[in-house]
Parts: sequence; C-alpha cells; structure tokens
Amino acid sequence: MAARNTKGKALALKMYDALSTEFPDSTCSLEIDCPENLAIRGILSAQCTDKRVNITARELFEKFPDMNAIAAQDPETIAAIIKPCGLTGSKTRSVMAFAKKMTGEWGGVVPNDTALLMEVPGIGRKIANLIVGEVYGTPAVVVDTHCKRVMKRVGITESTDPNKVEKDIMKVFPEDTWIRIGHLSVDLGRKYCTAQSPKCDACPLASFCAGRI
Ligand code: SF4
Repeated sequence: MAARNTKGKALALKMYDALSTEFPDSTCSLEIDCPENLAIRGILSAQCTDKRVNITARELFEKFPDMNAIAAQDPETIAAIIKPCGLTGSKTRSVMAFAKKMTGEWGGVVPNDTALLMEVPGIGRKIANLIVGEVYGTPAVVVDTHCKRVMKRVGITESTDPNKVEKDIMKVFPEDTWIRIGHLSVDLGRKYCTAQSPKCDACPLASFCAGRI
C-alpha cells in the first residue's frame, strides 16, 4: 500500500506541475462576488453550464440583491428567472431553502462546514466543497464530471464514484493543492481530455498518462 501511495504521490506531483504550467490562470468558472451568491450559483450549476449559470444568476441578483429579498419571494417568481438553468422545480426549492437558512438559523453567515451546507436540498458534497474551498480556503476537492474522468484516465483512481475519487485525490495530492486541482482538471477536461475524443497527442499529461490513446 505504501509503495502504491508513493507512486500515486509522484504521479500527482507530475500532474499538478504539468497542469499548472499549461493553465497558470486556472480558477473557478462560476463568478464569485460573495459567499451566498456563490452558493446559489452552485445550486443552479447542476446539469447546466457555468456560463449559463453566471448569466442567469446576474439577472436574479439584479432583481433580488440579497437573501432577504429572495426568501421573501414566491417560489414561482424565482422559478421564472432561473428556468434557463433547467431542473426548475428542484432548483427553486433549493434556492428558497438556502435563502431561508441564511435569513434564519445561519444568521446571514454561510457556514464553513460541509455537513451543515449539505442540509440544504440541492447542495451535495461537490457544491459544499466548492463553497468552503472558495469562500474560506478550507482544503476541499471538488469532483465534477471532468475531474472524475481525468483522474481515472490518468491513473489517480480506479473509481467513478465521486466520493471515492475525492478520497483517492486526497491521498496523493498535497492538501494545499486540493482546491486548485479541481479547477485544473476542469480545464484539462475541457481542452484536451474531453469525454468523446481526447486529444492525447497535444495533452500536457501525455508523457505519463495511463489512459493515453
Ligand atoms: S493523455 Fe489523453 S487520456 Fe491522458 S489526460 Fe491527456 S487527453 Fe486525457
């Protein structure tokens, strides 16, 4: 096990260095203005592009600039605005539930606590990790569909279960890279390691990737 971990750590280091060189400005593609708005964007991001979420969230926050204003609306009003992001019913319930937590028991402060955040329907582990990582700098790995695919192809994990992938990443990547490795994986997944036609010949990980084709 120790030998396997050592090998994994060496691979992780090579991967991190190569990705950091390729994508020096890698960052979260959801807009971040304040913690609560990021949480709402995270809720809206399920099965939707970050670009679409950013546009729709801007419209929402222009009309209702804080959580008090959102919590005071009828769900139908919120639903009409967030509809372009899809899954309108469940996302509306989540946005309302989050706004009510913020104006109620959380006293206006987004918790730095994944378990508490996950009490809101629609906030799963991925979004909770995104919030604590981006808002508070708490080391946390965001495993989205790109990260899952890339980590398996490269050889960091053998699993496709996001919770297991997260644990495998945490075993081999240093804690201070956890937030950034998620962003770097997304950049790689979008530019080179796409789901259908990975561009292995041009990929910065090609020289050591287990899944190169
Ligand atoms: S070499 Fe190919 S499979 Fe490996 S990470 Fe790059 S694009 Fe993906």
